[in-house]
Amino acid sequence: MDTTSFTPTAECSPRTARIPRIVIVGGGAGGMQLATRLAGTAGRRALAEIVLVDRYPTHFWKPLLHEAASGHCDPATHTIEYAAQARHHGFRFVQGELLRVDRTAHLATIGAVFDADGEHILPERQLHYDELVLALGSVTNFFNVPGAAEHALPLENLEQAEHFRRRFLAACTKANHLAQEQPARAAPPICINVIGAGATGVELAAALRHAVGPLTAYRFKSLIADRHVCIRLIEGAPRILPTLDERVSARTHAQLRDLNVEVLTGIRVSEVTRDAILTAAGQRLASDITIWAAGVAGPAMLAQIGDVALNASNQVIVNDTLQTPDDPHVFAFGDCAACPSQGSRGYLPPRAQVAYQQARYLGQAFMQRLSGKRVRGFAFHDAGTVVSLGKTGAVFQTELGRSRSLIIDGLAAIGLYEFIYRKHLLGLHGTKRTLLQSLSHWLQSHNRPSIRLH
Ligand SMILES: Cc1cc2nc3c(=O)[nH]c(=O)nc-3n(C[C@H](O)[C@H](O)[C@H](O)COP(=O)(O)OP(=O)(O)OC[C@H]3O[C@@H](n4cnc5c(N)ncnc54)[C@H](O)[C@@H]3O)c2cc1C
Repeated sequence: MDTTSFTPTAECSPRTARIPRIVIVGGGAGGMQLATRLAGTAGRRALAEIVLVDRYPTHFWKPLLHEAASGHCDPATHTIEYAAQARHHGFRFVQGELLRVDRTAHLATIGAVFDADGEHILPERQLHYDELVLALGSVTNFFNVPGAAEHALPLENLEQAEHFRRRFLAACTKANHLAQEQPARAAPPICINVIGAGATGVELAAALRHAVGPLTAYRFKSLIADRHVCIRLIEGAPRILPTLDERVSARTHAQLRDLNVEVLTGIRVSEVTRDAILTAAGQRLASDITIWAAGVAGPAMLAQIGDVALNASNQVIVNDTLQTPDDPHVFAFGDCAACPSQGSRGYLPPRAQVAYQQARYLGQAFMQRLSGKRVRGFAFHDAGTVVSLGKTGAVFQTELGRSRSLIIDGLAAIGLYEFIYRKHLLGLHGTKRTLLQSLSHWLQSHNRPSIRLH
């Protein structure tokens, strides 16, 4: 438990010279919530200046990435401009990548910004903070598998999702052309391999399979969806979704089989090449596109935060108030933080639900500190896990205590999955704008092909 309250510093901007500056770096699932909340409380009451830093100009909710990669959602309708959010809610937005932190001088160095043509827009800058909150998310962990970083695609941001989508469409275009040119000969199938059958890999594999039908109907008419496009999901553990209940694994596996996704479990990938995956058992699996969804780690730049302690997954070690043990003015949460999990010796998992609850907690904890009140530690309440298989279904699991769990699938689980995103939007926009946005998404979904065709 920590009871420190803030001391303002002389280096804040003149307008806010006597209030502390809270700098949040990373405007993702957690950081954007925290900046919006704090701006509405501490910022509105002029108790603190809130600054949000992100390397991109727009926010996109990461759990939707597989829908962007498969073409089910148009990112343009789901991105939120940080500048607009900052203007509506009263925080300051600074675009740029956090490069390093001088903890003694309380200075964060923000990298230069370039436009799409490589033109220099903004120089490297230094930003003074009184309290620094790291919400940088995670990066793909390739576990040093030879060739993986070179040949497997990660799925960490919109650029990568779009890159994958374009490669996927290009592969379908080639195969379709081949099938048209030589109709007598069966065109060789395109093989898309997803490595890692946690929730991300499972959702991506299902979304890709759902994308193929509309693509062949609208554009690639010579392709036979099930024969010419092979979607394979590869998992090292004996079953998919290894951290969830066995019944959830079994139900999801059966649904993937019905969708014609090939599921391989107990397969250890030993190497990834340009056009194949090699396994420890000596198999060679052809691969036109390989996606790596087998694990995450903290971003490498965390080593530049003036020697804060990191765990083996390169996440910042924090205590239950989400402060680093070395420096009470540096906080970390979400995927980039190693936050102790109550009742076990491990850390909380990298999930949007954790980031969301920690953002809510920090919003309250900062207000308590600013008013000199006592701050309690963060406690995570697991509301369950939902894995979406697109329009064919979803599976939801929640613990009911003492190794008993409730499992729901079908429409109720699909509704729960939808609700999680709407809850994120509610936290950012409030009820009226979230309802309007949801209506606009619904209208668009009835007014366009179900998949992006180009
Ligand atoms: C395809 C996919 C599906 C998922 N599905 C689910 C799901 O169904 N349920 C669930 O609970 N979780 C899901 N997750 C995990 C979930 O997205 C993360 O746990 C969550 O986004 C973590 O939130 P965060 O705020 O810690 O980081 P993020 O949301 O990743 O945000 C990090 C932010 O930091 C910015 N940033 C990074 N480095 C820098 C830097 N050096 N300088 C400035 N800015 C920087 C990034 O641009 C980004 O905006 C999924 C993840 C993926 C990839």
